[in-house]
Amino acid sequence: MKITKENKREEKQSYQQTIESRNRNELEGVVHKTARGMWTIFPGLCKGCGLCIEKCPVGVIGWSSELGAYGTNRVEVNEDGCVTCKICSLYCPDAAISVVRI
Ligand code: SF4
Ligand code: SF4
Repeated sequence: MKITKENKREEKQSYQQTIESRNRNELEGVVHKTARGMWTIFPGLCKGCGLCIEKCPVGVIGWSSELGAYGTNRVEVNEDGCVTCKICSLYCPDAAISVVRI
């Protein structure tokens, strides 16, 4: 295909749309209500390292069948057992978990 100014403009637009959509997805969290607050995972930031699973003192984080940032499985929480201690969010190297105590 011949490279024209029009092609280049379309390619740039498509690239910008991809980046904007990616940024939007990164900011879309999946919220779970716990007994004491809220536990939120941002799938667009979770790289599936498993550190949060290892550190949760009550073992309520597990693997989701949904995919995260790099096509690896993201994590999910069993909200009924979460004690809202925030340890997972403090250990996550990518700020993919937010825990709010109410
Ligand atoms: S807030 Fe505490 S109990 Fe809840 S998932 Fe994170 S580490 Fe586990
Ligand atoms: S520590 Fe963060 S990046 Fe790693 S699996 Fe847990 S939520 Fe995902």
